[in-house]
Order: sequence, then structure tokens, then C-alpha cells
Amino acid sequence: MAVDPLIELRDVNKYYGKLHVLTDINLTVGRGEVVVVIGPSGSGKSTLCRTMNRLETIESGSISIDGRPLPEEGKGLAALRAEVGMVFQSFNLFAHRTVLDNVSLAQIKVRGRKKEEADQRSRELLDRVGLASQADKYPAQLSGGQQQRVAIARALAMDPKVMLFDEPTSALDPEMINEVLEVMQQLARDGMTMVVVTHEMGFARSAANRVVFMADGKIVEDRTPDDFFTNPHSERAKDFLSKIL
Ligand code: ADP
Ligand code: MG
Repeated sequence: MAVDPLIELRDVNKYYGKLHVLTDINLTVGRGEVVVVIGPSGSGKSTLCRTMNRLETIESGSISIDGRPLPEEGKGLAALRAEVGMVFQSFNLFAHRTVLDNVSLAQIKVRGRKKEEADQRSRELLDRVGLASQADKYPAQLSGGQQQRVAIARALAMDPKVMLFDEPTSALDPEMINEVLEVMQQLARDGMTMVVVTHEMGFARSAANRVVFMADGKIVEDRTPDDFFTNPHSERAKDFLSKIL
């Protein structure tokens, strides 16, 4: 893929106290690329995601989004968080707000949109994730899969340049996983730049341009899915794949 880098991490190191949680991470994510991050529990996948929108600070190295270093604080940081959409395992919707409000609130607060404008955009996005008819419900009235699709719509409403997904289907009942993965597949087809931490290997095979395999805070392999799944190089990856496939 011709690289037009949207995210660049250079020699990134992060510690939690004495724990060296990210070691010499070098990663470039091109515009429109889908990078799936896999690896054992505790290998640093969530931390990696969280550094990319500065939910975590780093001790050394550099991270830039669209050619600009991550801002330290203040307005720049709020703008960055809007540009880097994040979807977590837990959906974190506002329980006492309708689905529509959940998607509109940050647009009004962070993007400065008028309520009517925000609501219109929210309805478009709810339609896109298959929830047009649920706009006036409250989160508790929705299934887990539906709530996660609202969370995706909410992130998209900020017009992000990139979407980070950290195990978006791990908390879902099995029958709801596909409806969320399908929304993500569609986003990928529409050209969204995505970094996705997941154990869904079917998704990795079909949607990813690259698979990044992490172990012990290091990127051990960074290859195409075909190449990775048919011919993992490292013992760590072979061992991991033998346990999950
Ligand atoms: P993964 O997402 O791959 O399971 P994480 O990034 O969550 O891994 O965690 C990587 C390592 O950092 C683990 O050993 C975890 O226990 C540790 N860790 C994560 N968050 C914190 C924290 N806030 N403080 C201290 N240690 C943490
Ligand atoms: Mg994690």
C-alpha cells in the first residue's frame, strides 16, 4: 500500500512504574488502512490504543496524527480526541439520555454544532449503523450489540480521521457480535482508517490490511493477514494462534 501516514509512532516507550509496558514501538498506519492488533492478554494492546489519543502519556518517543505531534493539553487535546474516535469494550453510554442525545451531545459541546444540526447528523449515523428506529429509546432498552453500535455512531459523529476499537465485541453475547463487526466492515469499506484490537480472527482476515501481533509490550510481527495466519514467524505468534484458532 502506498503509505500516506495518518498515525505514526516512533520508538515509543511507556512504563507503569517499573513495568515496561510498551517497548520501542514503531508503527505507521496509512490513511484508509485497517490495522488489526492481536496478542495475549497483558501484551499492551489497550495501552497502545490509549497512547494514540493521549489517554496515556509516554516516557519517550513520538506519536503524530496526520503529521502533527499529539498535543500536550488544553484545546488541542480536545480536538485530538474528536479526531481520534475510540470505541471500548464497555459502551459507556449516558443511561439517562436517549440514544439520539447520546450521539448528539458531544457534537454540540465539542464540535459546537447547533442541536438541530447535531440531531440531523445523529439520525444519519444511526441509520448507517442500522438503528434509525431506536433514536428515542434509552440505552437500557437496547441490546448490547445495539448499544455498541450507538457508541460507534457517537464516535463517528465527531468526524474522526481515525477510529480506534479496543475489543469492541468482547463484552457481547455471541449472537450480537456479527452485527457490530458488520458495521465495522462497512466502515472499513468506506475508507475509514481503523486500528482494531480484537480476537475476531475472521474480521482480521477479511477486513485488515495488516495484522500487528504484540507480546510483552513489543510488536513482534506486522504483516498482511494472509501471510501472518498461514506463516507466523515467531514462536509467540505460533503459540498464540494455536490457542485461539
Ligand atoms: P492488553 O490490552 O494487551 O491486555 P494492557 O495494555 O491492558 O494489555 O496492559 C498491559 C500491561 O500493563 C499489563 O501487565 C497490565 O496489567 C498493565 N497495566 C495496564 N494498565 C495499567 C495501569 N493503569 N497501571 C498499572 N499497570 C497497568
Ligand atoms: Mg486490552
